[in-house]
Amino acid sequence: MSAGTMVKTGTMVKVDLKTLISVTADTIAAHADELTALDQAIGDGDHGLNMKRGFEAVRAEAEAFAAKPLPEALKAIGTKLVMTVGGASGPLFGTLFMALGKEISAEPDRANLAMAFGKAIEAVAARGKSQVGQKTMLDVLQPVHDALLQGKTEAEIADVADRAADATVPMKALRGRASFLGDRSIGHMDAGGRSVALLVRAVTETIEGQA
Ligand code: ADP
Ligand code: MG
Repeated sequence: MSAGTMVKTGTMVKVDLKTLISVTADTIAAHADELTALDQAIGDGDHGLNMKRGFEAVRAEAEAFAAKPLPEALKAIGTKLVMTVGGASGPLFGTLFMALGKEISAEPDRANLAMAFGKAIEAVAARGKSQVGQKTMLDVLQPVHDALLQGKTEAEIADVADRAADATVPMKALRGRASFLGDRSIGHMDAGGRSVALLVRAVTETIEGQA
């Protein structure tokens, strides 16, 4: 997701990690109330605050992260998110970034990015003992991975992520706090899935803007 470089139709697209950190923190901050409202409906209402705390902590050390090679930067960002986001989503978002850092090349092409993202999703699923279809962040991560593999453009990938978040609305939660509600979890968007969609749009727009 937060790849430093990415091949787009055969062209290397360089992305400043500092910019990526800033745009992702901006979008989480701008939507913190919305994320909280989503989590209030079928959870405990802390998701917006959790994510904002984590991404602001990453922003505070953006210079240090950006000075590292991409794999090390992503691992360090993941560790920071585990320490600061909290809740169920903190270790899961942290795992996503740490696993991405473990698998990605210092100068990834699109194939490497897709491979690393796939492994990162597997790591999240293992950590969360969850799978696609249970109304969690995985229900947005997986379609984004599929879109990457299909060679979709950045704009298309961002749309796929939004639609995937929308598609969590009619689902019944089978993992996380929302699962305690059973059928009453139906009819609301998954907060973690919405966070993933926001992050994906911010990253893809940044990459596209610099193409
Ligand atoms: P908490 O549920 O502890 O209050 P958050 O509110 O920060 O934590 O995060 C909730 C989000 O975490 C959910 O919307 C869902 O997307 C994600 N989530 C929770 N449990 C799991 C799990 N086991 N696997 C994948 N994602 C999960
Ligand atoms: Mg919560």
